[in-house]
Amino acid sequence: MSNANECTKPMQVNYNECAAEDLDRLHESVRKAEQRQSEWRLRLEMRAAGAERARRARAHRQRHVLQHRARAARGTRRSPRSSHTKAAASAGSDGGGDGDGPSDPHKSKHEQTVILVKTRNKKLGKGVWASTLPVRQTCPRSCPFLDNGCYGQRGPGGHVARLERNAARQGLTALDIAREEARLIRRAARKAPATALLRLHVSGDSSTTESAEIVGEACEAWKARAWGYTHCWAWVPRAAWRAVSMLASIETPDQAKSALARGYAVSMTVSAFPNGKRPWVEGGVTWIPCPAQMRRTTCAECRLCLDDEGLIRRRQGIAFREHGSGKLRVRETLVQLRKKALGDGGAS
Ligand code: SF4
Repeated sequence: MSNANECTKPMQVNYNECAAEDLDRLHESVRKAEQRQSEWRLRLEMRAAGAERARRARAHRQRHVLQHRARAARGTRRSPRSSHTKAAASAGSDGGGDGDGPSDPHKSKHEQTVILVKTRNKKLGKGVWASTLPVRQTCPRSCPFLDNGCYGQRGPGGHVARLERNAARQGLTALDIAREEARLIRRAARKAPATALLRLHVSGDSSTTESAEIVGEACEAWKARAWGYTHCWAWVPRAAWRAVSMLASIETPDQAKSALARGYAVSMTVSAFPNGKRPWVEGGVTWIPCPAQMRRTTCAECRLCLDDEGLIRRRQGIAFREHGSGKLRVRETLVQLRKKALGDGGAS
């Protein structure tokens, strides 16, 4: 039998205590919700700020390109230090530094295959223009420095590598690149001052007679002298270069005779100048250490390489000490080539 008194006994509930607990829980959940909300607000603000920064950068780039095009159209280009500008002949020994204006403002840096700009390079000197070509597409396979310490390929900024990638993507041949270089030379010749010198091929070369003729012909439009160095002297006739002072780039003194016989003045890379600053005689040629490498002068002042007829007449050649980040590999190659030349000379 159940106890009726026990069952009907009323429960003792402290309503005040319950209400206080509920209120605490409620406050806690409100506090957490507010915290979550403020975190979300912060994230949204940060995202908006990032988007605004990106929008401003895009607008700035767009404004820059439009101003540049307008200046180019007016023919009064200033020297904006854009990535194109910095690309100016910055590969290789002669090109380091920057230049004035992109070679073609209508081409993005992803389309460019040739750079032709007025360089501010310290070795070349003031007011000298310079062309930079992709190495792999234009240099002869026989060059002992190709992929082996070539200072053009290892130049700062990776501009030559970019030109090579662009040329490969567009499927361009050495001839296409020579035509592009010729187009840029003619275009630049219209606005360059009559005294502006032109240094051809800070990197790259013209490895066929046809390419050399295309570039040589375009250089006729250039008012002052153009000059350069070629590894292709053994098969490209000197006449293809017309008025360009193109020097044969040789590796050992015994090659000087054949280069001179083909009508080329000679230049040679050496691991050290054996007579310090003074010239020395080797292979029937008086070798002059490049004054820009020895003292603080510039090509624009020195001009020895610009007078190939004079160098041939005096049987003088220009010697360059190996330089650039690949100079150890170049030195190694030069030692091997010299040994081989001495061996061949001794055997014959
Ligand atoms: S010899 Fe004169 S012109 Fe030739 S690279 Fe040296 S400084 Fe320039």
